[in-house]
Amino acid sequence: MKIHEHQALDLLGAYGVPNAGGAVAFTAGEAAAAAQGLPRGRLVVKAQIHAGGRGKAGGVRLADSPEQVGEIAAALLGSTLVTPQTGPAGRRVNRLLVTPAVDIAREFYLGLLLDMDSGCTVLMASAEGGTEIEEVAKHRPERILRARIDPLVGLRRFQLRNLTAGLGLSGQAAQDFEDIAQALYRLFVERDCSLVELNPLVETAGGRLLALDAKLSFDDSALFRHPDLAALRDPLEEDPREVEASALKLSYIPLEGSIGCMVNGAGLAMATMDLIQAQGAQPANFLDVGGGAGADKVAGAFRLLLGDGNVRGILVNIFGGIMRCDQLAEGIVEAARRVELALPLVVRLRGTNAEQGARILADSALAITPENDLKRAVETIVRLTGGAGR
Ligand code: ADP
Ligand code: MG
Repeated sequence: MKIHEHQALDLLGAYGVPNAGGAVAFTAGEAAAAAQGLPRGRLVVKAQIHAGGRGKAGGVRLADSPEQVGEIAAALLGSTLVTPQTGPAGRRVNRLLVTPAVDIAREFYLGLLLDMDSGCTVLMASAEGGTEIEEVAKHRPERILRARIDPLVGLRRFQLRNLTAGLGLSGQAAQDFEDIAQALYRLFVERDCSLVELNPLVETAGGRLLALDAKLSFDDSALFRHPDLAALRDPLEEDPREVEASALKLSYIPLEGSIGCMVNGAGLAMATMDLIQAQGAQPANFLDVGGGAGADKVAGAFRLLLGDGNVRGILVNIFGGIMRCDQLAEGIVEAARRVELALPLVVRLRGTNAEQGARILADSALAITPENDLKRAVETIVRLTGGAGR
């Protein structure tokens, strides 16, 4: 789960990472009022969307007065921001951060992420932070310094010294960097983050370090331990299908193809997707309905698949272990009636009570194609949806 910049800056503040301050606004009036409450001077109005690259896309704007803040806010709110991280559809701007403009001497990058290869958290830092960091990573990777953090010993001072020296920091700024990096690591571990990024972390004209932009992502599987973080979720920033799937406790990932898949178990779901691709077609999604799906869950899963305009047909592949095939068949029949299913539907049911399940499907008078052999089931749905290449 991601959170907004202003929420991330607040959380970082609680861990002792300084920022420029400011206030969040949902209307132009609130933005102007927020500006009135800030120290006099130049201000920055920042679109709050769950994607970076806002600066270059016009989502970070300077203002000289509260009136101008109001004007910029009116233009930004409700507009759609397209950045390299939003995809072509862009993101609608629903909230803003109004913050003092900082006199920047240098922009750094500081990030923490999990490195799957080493099984460690890795700290990354660069003296070439700011809006060009992707270019630096691509063309001058040696300009990004790394320190691998042993989970048993934490971030060591010698590692921090290497980094500050490599970044060209000294004196108060070097001390600030060490404090901020340690605070960031503490936050990363305590709050089960998958990514923490300050870009830029700036050195001010006064020689102090401040976080001017922050990105935090949390491990969804650990959110139950952090109800305060879960409360920061902004459903407007998420794919509505994924929000619905998460409410139904389904693992669902939309993909580009045209064959909707409803499968129980992640392994079987992946094998099903592989078989579809081996036939030259493409799955429209990964969907694991889990072990004990009842009729409601099955109906919800159907709604999700049918809500995807690319889906030309559905393959249900269930291996009933804990799940009983007769119950599942009832769920399918009920769901197919409820949503008035008009697309080809191929169903493979194996395992506990598979015969009863097959009978329920056959008696339903719905246009369901039962096929108990997995390979043939896949061939059938590929044929019914227009063949390979879809
Ligand atoms: P994004 O990463 O989405 O482009 P940032 O918040 O990093 O958005 O802003 C982009 C650039 O705008 C920063 O690299 C910095 O140069 C400038 N900027 C952002 N916030 C401020 C601020 N409060 N004062 C001055 N400059 C800022
Ligand atoms: Mg940034």
